[in-house]
Amino acid sequence: MVALNWRRWIGANTAPAAEQVGGTGARILAVSGEAFGQPRYATDAAAAEAICRAANATVVVAPGTSRPMRILGGVSHRLGGQIDTHVANLQPGPTVTRWYYRQRIEALLDRSHRPWFLAVDSGAFPAYSEPPAAASVESISVELSPRTAVLGKKAPKTGQQTIPPDAKVLFVAGAGWTKKQKDGTVRVRQAAELIIGFVNEAQASLGSSKSLVDLSGAGQDVLPFLSHLNQVGQTGSTPRHPKGLATCCHGEEPHVVGWRFITERRAVNLDANCGWARGKADVLYVADAFEVMMKVNEMLTASRH
Ligand SMILES: Cc1cc2nc3c(=O)[nH]c(=O)nc-3n(C[C@H](O)[C@H](O)[C@H](O)COP(=O)(O)OP(=O)(O)OC[C@H]3O[C@@H](n4cnc5c(N)ncnc54)[C@H](O)[C@@H]3O)c2cc1C
Repeated sequence: MVALNWRRWIGANTAPAAEQVGGTGARILAVSGEAFGQPRYATDAAAAEAICRAANATVVVAPGTSRPMRILGGVSHRLGGQIDTHVANLQPGPTVTRWYYRQRIEALLDRSHRPWFLAVDSGAFPAYSEPPAAASVESISVELSPRTAVLGKKAPKTGQQTIPPDAKVLFVAGAGWTKKQKDGTVRVRQAAELIIGFVNEAQASLGSSKSLVDLSGAGQDVLPFLSHLNQVGQTGSTPRHPKGLATCCHGEEPHVVGWRFITERRAVNLDANCGWARGKADVLYVADAFEVMMKVNEMLTASRH
């Protein structure tokens, strides 16, 4: 079995990162050099293919994050393999667990075809955290054909990378942030500052309820950094994070089904009878989210200085 891991096995300099997993005693093959530091289809695919060939890989396990996902299908094809994505668990065999029909059906899969490529969903397993140890790395050389030069990055207009899958906390904003508050005012700009302030300070992933992201389509005053990509729930995403905090979100079933893989759930809502209070959250703070998040952000900023 080959585990492909970017920054460890493929990158400009893979040696220090390989040491982080030196304690596993696994055989480590790496492709390194300046050209492999850039996330680019041609070089990433060539490196992954070379590693799989050198190892005579029969089963290839890789993280299902954006960089590997761009190339895994292509690499599998080059090697005559078959691929399954969104793997949620792996057992010896290997047998793979995968969800279907928006997490309503869980299937166990195996395949006789080899090589078999498996892209594992982020957060499905805890990160390896043993101390670093000396690692002997087998360096694989790769012939590169003329390739695209990466000149720089252009971020999307929203500017913020708000959905890091490996974040420890999911912060969900609901439509309440845009509603008239107890002093009779609507405070969308303040809401935006509080939300982005927390997301940046806590390195959190930003989720949203459907009602909040739908407001932009209805032409209302909205939070500029939210899109339907942030929507969590039945018709949105089902992210995986150790903790989640819902704010100004009612906690209705079609939204909360998207929290299936959030381990510890907390919510802030003015309404003591909201959905979170009915067994959907571990802790509900019945409070004004504007006041709570202002205080939380102050404490986070203070702890940094
Ligand atoms: C087929 C179907 C699929 C759906 N799919 C999804 C989905 O994928 N994802 C999803 O999210 N929804 C989905 N919905 C919609 C879902 O049922 C809810 O309508 C939606 O989640 C409600 O969004 P909300 O909680 O943000 O807004 P609201 O219901 O308007 O709740 C706002 C909350 O904010 C609170 N609030 C207001 N001000 C404050 C304050 N200052 N401090 C604290 N709390 C405050 C209020 O008490 C209220 O509880 C779906 C519905 C259907 C029928």
